[in-house]
Amino acid sequence: MLLSRCAWHPRYYGYPLVEGVASWSGWGVKFTDGICTDCTARFRDEHRVFLERRRLEAAARTLEAQQQVA
Ligand SMILES: [Zn+2]
Repeated sequence: MLLSRCAWHPRYYGYPLVEGVASWSGWGVKFTDGICTDCTARFRDEHRVFLERRRLEAAARTLEAQQQVA
């Protein structure tokens, strides 16, 4: 039996989330790690802030370079 769980849940919410049964085959219990929709949304939010900051830094560097040339 293979259980699908969210690998990001403990980090974002402080407790693990088992999303469901990925497969009933096999003896015993195994886990497969994935990401749930809640954590996907959080991950995207964090990423958006990170990417936006990178973009602004790159823009600032470009501006500085242009000012040095002028
Ligand atoms: Zn999650």
